[in-house]
Amino acid sequence: MNSDSFQAPSPRLFLRKNFLQLFHALKQLGYQILGPVLSQGAIQWKTITAPEDLPIGWNDRQEPGSYRLEQDSHSRFFNIIHGPESLKPLTFTSRETLLVLDRQDHTFSAKEIQPEIKPTAVLGVRACDLAGLAIQDRIFLNDTYPDPYYEQRREHLLLVAVNCTKAHPACFCASMATGPKAQYGFDLCLTEADEDFLIEAGSRKGLQVLEQLTCSLASEERIIQDKERIAACAASQTRRLPTANLPDALYEAHDHPRWDQVAARCLSCSNCTMVCPTCFCHGVEETPSLDFQQSEHTRVWDSCFAPDHGYIHGKNFRPTTKDRYRMWLTHKLASWIDQFGTSGCVGCGRCITWCPVGIDITEEAQALSQPSD
Ligand code: SF4
Ligand code: SF4
Repeated sequence: MNSDSFQAPSPRLFLRKNFLQLFHALKQLGYQILGPVLSQGAIQWKTITAPEDLPIGWNDRQEPGSYRLEQDSHSRFFNIIHGPESLKPLTFTSRETLLVLDRQDHTFSAKEIQPEIKPTAVLGVRACDLAGLAIQDRIFLNDTYPDPYYEQRREHLLLVAVNCTKAHPACFCASMATGPKAQYGFDLCLTEADEDFLIEAGSRKGLQVLEQLTCSLASEERIIQDKERIAACAASQTRRLPTANLPDALYEAHDHPRWDQVAARCLSCSNCTMVCPTCFCHGVEETPSLDFQQSEHTRVWDSCFAPDHGYIHGKNFRPTTKDRYRMWLTHKLASWIDQFGTSGCVGCGRCITWCPVGIDITEEAQALSQPSD
């Protein structure tokens, strides 16, 4: 969504004590502001009006099957890396009524339901979220039939990214070349330090906001320092996907015994697909009124782990958990590349953290890419 001809000015320094100015600037331009907010033991995108609404002093601990928030003595705003939500629910909502059908004598009329969309600025977007959004753009915007609901929400977004200077054990964006530095798709990008932020504009919209803030030019030394902090974050990631020849290895692994082993653990709960920033499966529900004079046509998120996802014309062609897990992993890491030209995984690690039994996509891909005995 950013203009190709945009020339980013040099990074600037923005003092923490002036951070409220960012809220004022966004508000003045008509944006509602969403940010990471502590909610039900995790973080969620919620409306914020001041820096105090951010999870100041909190850290997240993420491991396979485990997510914990802990309080600390630091005063950073963005030390929690992410929660279960990527940007996906903000552009492709989990449940949305598209049409209302009205019965009229022997025919019917259809009324399109237009969503109410406000210009929305999102603070605290991670590089993996931007990479996930670019994949969703490819699916919902840049194909034969752009999705008008997605398109409107997408156009109204202003994205303030935060570069990661620490990773949690489930992250593997470095091996997917999607992070930890935000590379594209942001309007503004912050790198947080104790007293200030390095701030960069990535679009004209972002520059318009940046010009409202009290900033100074960042020194070359400071820019290098922050680059090194981001590089250290990349180097600290221990998980990685074996990207070389992975699609071929997975196609050849169709009868690999590992599928039975992972299926014995997998609960077919769909959590991995719900939290994944790139999964886009959906179905439609028809909900008639009690007098059958009206019906709502609603789009809802679906998952290839749902038992009826493979049910067509009286037959389920993916009846077992093994079939479903194999479909998910092979699509995500192999046939997605044939279909869309990129991997379907951006290395955010959410499916690892939020899998109730801690199934790890990197471990499974690694095992499946080895020949079976
Ligand atoms: S497959 Fe897992 S790690 Fe990859 S993008 Fe989806 S949730 Fe993130
Ligand atoms: S891999 Fe984990 S999160 Fe995904 S369906 Fe199986 S049990 Fe649920």
